[in-house]
Amino acid sequence: MEQVSEEIVQKLFSARANAYVPYSNHPVASVMVTPDGQQFAGTNVEVAHYKGLCAEASAISAMVTAGQRQLETVYVMGPADHLCTPCGDCRQRIREFATPDTQIKVLSGSGELMKTYTMETLLPDAFGPEQLPPR
Ligand SMILES: [Zn+2]
Repeated sequence: MEQVSEEIVQKLFSARANAYVPYSNHPVASVMVTPDGQQFAGTNVEVAHYKGLCAEASAISAMVTAGQRQLETVYVMGPADHLCTPCGDCRQRIREFATPDTQIKVLSGSGELMKTYTMETLLPDAFGPEQLPPR
């Protein structure tokens, strides 16, 4: 079975440990890896009016803030041993920076790889930037 690198798993554990989830108690971590190997971690940040920020959105924000615009691999780890796949909003966010080769890997809460998706399997026939008229 395919393994996820210890470096990535530790980064996910570390980010998840810092989740701010007083309302859901559902900590999630994500690491975005760019084609040049840079890694950007994120975790979920909830707020009292319930419109919190997902781990994937946090990690994408860090990636974009650093000037990166393309995803090679997306890692997501939830709190338990069930599939914690990106929500609908995050699927669209990932799509914005994905290529057909981008892989989305969902790990169990203990760090085992559970499932790997392509963008097409995660969000089939997705709307994306190329559907908009040229700027
Ligand atoms: Zn989300």
